[in-house]
Order: sequence, then C-alpha cells, then structure tokens
Amino acid sequence: MTVLTTQNLRARYGGVEVLHGVDLAIEEGEIVALLGANGAGKTTLLRAICRQVDSSGAITLDGTRIDKMTTARVARLGIGHVPEGRGTFTELTVEENLRLGILARPRPVRATANEDLNLINETFPVLHEMRGRQAGALSGGQAQMLAVARALLARPRLLLVDEPSLGLAPLTTLELFNRFQSLRDAWSLTILLAEQNARLSLRVADRAVVLTRGRVSLEGPAADLQDHDALRAAYLGEAPSAPADRPFPSTRGALDD
Ligand code: ATP
Repeated sequence: MTVLTTQNLRARYGGVEVLHGVDLAIEEGEIVALLGANGAGKTTLLRAICRQVDSSGAITLDGTRIDKMTTARVARLGIGHVPEGRGTFTELTVEENLRLGILARPRPVRATANEDLNLINETFPVLHEMRGRQAGALSGGQAQMLAVARALLARPRLLLVDEPSLGLAPLTTLELFNRFQSLRDAWSLTILLAEQNARLSLRVADRAVVLTRGRVSLEGPAADLQDHDALRAAYLGEAPSAPADRPFPSTRGALDD
C-alpha cells in the first residue's frame, strides 16, 4: 500500500524555485533514505510534505490529497516531522516532552498510549533513566533521541526525519537508526529519512532517493546504492560512471541537466 506520493512537486522560497518537479512514491513500512549534497533540497522536500513552504504539485497521504492542507491538519492526519536541529522543549523535562507527543496522537490510538510509552522506554532506555531531567540538559545524541521519541509517541503514519546524524558520533547515529528499524517493525511505521550521511543511512534504509539540485537524480534499493559510483556522481552532480554491464536500477535520466 502506498502511503505517500508526490507528483511534479515544486517548492520555492520567495521567487526562487528550489524543487523542480519531484515525483516520489513511498510504500507502507518502508524506510527511505533521502540523500543529497548540501543545498540539494532535502529539508525543503520534507517541509513541502508537511506544508511549511510554498509549493505546487500533488501530494497524497494514503490516497488523500494533502497539498492544500495546513501543517496542523497534515500532522493530525499522521505526518510526524522531526526537524533539523531537533526541536525539543528545553525547559520541560524529558517525561513532559514525551507526554506532549502522546497528547498529539489521534483519537483511535489514544487507548494504547501507555503500552506505546513502555515500548518507547524500552527502545530508548536512556530517556527513561533521565525522565526527570530538563530536556535542555541532555547531550546532543540524547536530545535527538527525545525529539524522535516524542514524534513517535504521536503514532504517525509517516515519520519525516531531517538530518538526525547532525552533530552525532557515527555509533550514536547508527544506534538511533537501528531503533528506527525496530519501531518500524513493531508499528509498521513508514519513514523518510533525509541524510547527508549516505553510508550510515543506507545500512538501515530499504530504498534510497537521491536529490541533486532539486531533482531526483537516482533511486533504487539501498543495497544496490552502497559503494556505487552513480551515488557519488549524484552527490557531486557529475554524469554516472557505472559500467554498462552493471546498470543502476531506475536511474532517472541525466543527473545534472
Ligand atoms: P543541507 O543538507 O545543507 O541541509 P538540503 O538538501 O536540506 O541541504 P535545503 O535546505 O532544502 O537543502 O535547501 C535547498 C535550497 O533552498 C538551497 O539552495 C538553500 O539555499 C535554499 N533555501 C533553504 N531554505 C531557505 C530559506 N528559508 N530561504 C531561502 N532559500 C532557502
């Protein structure tokens, strides 16, 4: 079942267009890594999906058009967003932050709030240990886990996570990514993970989509993208240099036009 689609999605800041017609389809339960160099448009794509930037084109969530809706409405429909730079309430305790996540959940899943909180505490034991601490006193990695856990407690249908590795050690990042996998399995969660760190995100993603200057330049199964020349080329905006006998799956036209 397809959870999210975008068709000819264009987004702009003022008069400047930075997404030039992005087509995506994300299936239920997938972890999709959204890769690309600095300024490729990853953050803007996540913002467009949760209606935070001026955009045109069609976006659907479970078949319903959401591209004319407000950010609050798409959140209620089940899109969770962990923005770059985390977004926890630093004056509140860890536990209060998590409770805010629970308050944001839709009515049908309110009954399972305690059960879900237990799973989150098992998945992120450090948050449970630090539940009485102010969020502002957490380390970068702990704060990132709290931001993700809070978004998860709203039980989103689709979780958009922006650059979670920023400022984290590779091992902490990998630990966080492994938790995405275990919660995806427990809750059939669908995750779109915007990351510059291709190596780490490809280890947990099922599929990857590469943006180059506001366009999808490459997509395919994560396993096929690891160590592939075409991935490097897409980052650098070069033509792919994959040998002809090892064609890249679903390479979409020129990388740089
Ligand atoms: P990074 O990995 O560096 O965060 P990104 O792939 O997430 O990059 P975006 O942040 O989406 O890229 O930026 C895409 C383009 O839009 C860039 O050229 C950037 O300068 C521009 N841009 C981003 N935010 C704004 C803004 N608020 N106002 C104007 N231009 C912006």
